[in-house]
Amino acid sequence: MLHKRELPNSEFEDLNKVYQVKLKLLCWLLCTPPAGQVTKEDIETLFGKNSKLLGWFGTRRLGKPDKRTQFGQALDVLANKARSEPIEANQVANAIEHDAVFHQKWHEPGFELKFPCGFTDWLEPVKAVAEPFYDWLASEKGFAKVVFGLTGCNMTRSKIMQAYRPQSLGICGYCDGPLGEIGSKADANDCEHFFPKSKWPHLAIHPANLFASCKGCNETWKLNKTPMGNADEAGIRGTYHPSLLSGASLISVAAKQSPDHPMRVSIEIRDAAVPERAQTLVETLDLEARWSNDVNEKMDGRGVSVFVSKAFQDRFRGQAPVEAEIDELLDDSIIWARKNISKEERSIRLAAALQYQKDCHLAQIIQELL
Ligand SMILES: [Zn+2]
Repeated sequence: MLHKRELPNSEFEDLNKVYQVKLKLLCWLLCTPPAGQVTKEDIETLFGKNSKLLGWFGTRRLGKPDKRTQFGQALDVLANKARSEPIEANQVANAIEHDAVFHQKWHEPGFELKFPCGFTDWLEPVKAVAEPFYDWLASEKGFAKVVFGLTGCNMTRSKIMQAYRPQSLGICGYCDGPLGEIGSKADANDCEHFFPKSKWPHLAIHPANLFASCKGCNETWKLNKTPMGNADEAGIRGTYHPSLLSGASLISVAAKQSPDHPMRVSIEIRDAAVPERAQTLVETLDLEARWSNDVNEKMDGRGVSVFVSKAFQDRFRGQAPVEAEIDELLDDSIIWARKNISKEERSIRLAAALQYQKDCHLAQIIQELL
């Protein structure tokens, strides 16, 4: 939501091939539901006689007529519901197809997601068919190259996370903090659905809906929160999107004196153009509190950040501090931090904290450096 993150074309296209299979399956079940159980022959009609997908959908995934897998049962249930409510089933299919191109229409007037709004009793049966695709993506083998006609290797969740790595420069696109090493337990990355799959299961594994975030953002703060509200017009307008509208260049961040202690700061994040976007960002990720804590941890308890003390020692080793020089050092540091927004973790809050120190505590900083 803060920094722009786009899946590279090759991974986007490959994941999209898998997504299109899921989309085709959902729309087929809704628009032309087979009579009785979904069989291998039905799958053959859907994907063609020679498709490698026939094997993929085989007994292992659907089960036998008398012993269906959970996924096989989910297909049967959705088809059954579609047979009994054909008009509404067609409307659901149209809504799902409409939403599948959300990334091409984001913020266009009148754009909003059409499913499950108005079709809430379809949510669970659609979810039962749609959600397992994410579990398969997360599995070790993922989606096989030969079956789905991929140009790269098998499509897996860890491949998606690796693909984001070069452009992210180790920075979480949501909170501006560090992305952990992939696979490390202490500070690992997570694969995050911007539109949570619990509420919009038809967008699970959609290539414009999957992002790498730090584990804290995904597991502790964002969880299943919906910064886009109900994904209606107001909800979409009121949030930043990781690849379609990034917040870092739109927000203003200020550090101010904390109400509970004169030497502590509190961070404020605003967006003058669309205030609700910044508000959503803050509320979704608890960002002001997290950034305030982080900045205060870097203070050494005397109102001078470790950063300033170190920069001073590096530049003026052994010399007495002079006001004009410290002022310049702070200016340089602020310029450096602003230039490094999106390139170095925590740069946004660092720039704000240094500005506050320069504006409000210059004399004290000099005193403490003596
Ligand atoms: Zn994060």
